[in-house]
Amino acid sequence: MRKYHAPNHLHIVRKKSARFLLRQLCAVRRLCAVSQLTQTMYILHESLDLVCIATVASDNIKTGPMIQLWIMARNVHPVESRRTGHDATLQCAGCPYASNKGCYVSPLPLMALYRTYKNGGYSHLQMGSPEWDSFFRGASVRFGAYGNPSHLPLEMIENIANLSVSHTGYFHDWNIMPVPLAKAYGKYFMASCEPSNVAFAQNLGLRTFTVVPEAPSDNRFGIECLADKSGLQCIDCGLCDGNSRSANRSLPLPSVWIKAHGYQTEKAIANLN
Ligand code: SF4
Repeated sequence: MRKYHAPNHLHIVRKKSARFLLRQLCAVRRLCAVSQLTQTMYILHESLDLVCIATVASDNIKTGPMIQLWIMARNVHPVESRRTGHDATLQCAGCPYASNKGCYVSPLPLMALYRTYKNGGYSHLQMGSPEWDSFFRGASVRFGAYGNPSHLPLEMIENIANLSVSHTGYFHDWNIMPVPLAKAYGKYFMASCEPSNVAFAQNLGLRTFTVVPEAPSDNRFGIECLADKSGLQCIDCGLCDGNSRSANRSLPLPSVWIKAHGYQTEKAIANLN
């Protein structure tokens, strides 16, 4: 069981201010670099069934302007994928909110992305190319605006994490993959959990991000998401970046909990119980 110490989120926030300055400097450099690119949305990865599309501009109030990675089915419309339960077998495997059972991701951006993808509207960005490096260097990246980012190759995740100044990521299929693989992805991502399986994930050494129906009375889920608790944006918080930074600390960073939210909150709570 992970050793848990009293929440020290204010300490985390203070440390973030240095990171904030660094990010500002990187943002200036990054603006120059990205301006050399011709598009703000790219295909990063395709497999037989899945595609990962990166988008630059984000009007997501909670995250701030992070690069967002969307992992979607290649050949099934997102609305159809959710309606039929196909999503639960592929991009959203392991998530109890898949198939319209409480997911907070609106179908509208998914529909727009899918339409443009099928019309050939996105170029490929090649890992290792100068354009790839310009795109990610100094950026903040949100892995998995939709879908499990654990569908991406580990070497690609490592590459992006190394180029970017910060990242966040969450994977819900940690408990249906081999433990060594879950730990490998857990270096970069939080294990998305429900109250019923958070202890299991933490026993594997994963940091957890748990959706709860109401504020917990103890600290087994870690600390409350700092967007909800302190009004931070993910781009300035960056707490949800898996285990990689904890390896260099005397105390591991805390796990995180958040109250069920989104346009299907009631369904999400029903599926938590
Ligand atoms: S804890 Fe921080 S990084 Fe994680 S979701 Fe909340 S604001 Fe974003």
